[in-house]
Amino acid sequence: MFIPKRILFEKDSLDYDMAKEILAKFKDKAEIEIINLTSNKIKQHIPGEDLLTQYREGKKTLVVGTKKSLKFQSCKPSAHYQLPLVSGCMGQCEYCYLNTQLGDKPFVKIHVNIDEILNQAEKYIDERLLEITIFEGAATSDPIPVEPYTHSLEKTIEFFGRNKNARFRFVTKYNDIDSLLNLEHNGHTEIRFSLNTASIIKQYEHATASSINRIEASIKVAEAGYPTGFLIAPVFIYPNWKEEYHDLLMELRNRLPEDLKFPVTFEVISHRYTTVAKNRILQIFPESGLPMKDEDRKYKYGQFGYGKYVYPKESMEEIKEFFGKEIEELFSNKEVKYII
Ligand code: SF4
Repeated sequence: MFIPKRILFEKDSLDYDMAKEILAKFKDKAEIEIINLTSNKIKQHIPGEDLLTQYREGKKTLVVGTKKSLKFQSCKPSAHYQLPLVSGCMGQCEYCYLNTQLGDKPFVKIHVNIDEILNQAEKYIDERLLEITIFEGAATSDPIPVEPYTHSLEKTIEFFGRNKNARFRFVTKYNDIDSLLNLEHNGHTEIRFSLNTASIIKQYEHATASSINRIEASIKVAEAGYPTGFLIAPVFIYPNWKEEYHDLLMELRNRLPEDLKFPVTFEVISHRYTTVAKNRILQIFPESGLPMKDEDRKYKYGQFGYGKYVYPKESMEEIKEFFGKEIEELFSNKEVKYII
């Protein structure tokens, strides 16, 4: 669970029950600073002269506010729309895509007007009837660490459980999922866990749940009948990588229930970076040991006008072959979405 160092309440947020409950929960904790904003200027309340300190302090900051624009962003190709429950994340993963996307806003922001957000989702669903409309809840955040006090996912999962024309999905690197286990989800919410080997998590995924805790949470979610998936990313090639990824997959195989209602899904993504991301990472994590030597990689032109440094062709083939074979042999009721 995310315990912030400071909580900023935006003007008007305290008109909503979620904000009132959060204030009641944290207001007597001496170690947490409570700030009532009189304007919506957030950054001036986050200390730090340089980017590094601003990043670290921003990551310890929770902003409680409302989602003002109810025009949802599209979320292709995995979903039709982003569902804006939360933005930002307490984690400090060195390769997080948010480092470049939310560069100067590393704080976690929760939106307390959940009823309005879900009403808006309903309008989007109605516009596309009788097609199924898919919403992604983790496009710019990890929504799980704040769930114990927002209960936003709980409401959202129940909302989608009642709606046969819509689906909800999100991905997490955390394990605070117990409050989601007994909900009427009706199989309409897919919960994916982002996993990696214990050594990679330890090295690069600071302030996230351990591999053991994530796996344990994923088993509970699968046992609760949710469509469950695993995002194995980013995959690195390092000494013993095959043994360690094999052990990870074996652990899943041994612990997943036999009688899964939905095939377990796998998405496997090899490590890649853009020059912009690399520069940003090295500003925030100057000591980073991430393998980002351009000369060891292949430059791949992207469809959005900027290219990425990916593993060379032979390594990519090795990754594809390894994961394809392992998943095929170890899991019966599964679907491999892609290995890239
Ligand atoms: Fe980013 Fe996910 Fe890590 Fe959070 S847990 S910092 S969203 S990669």
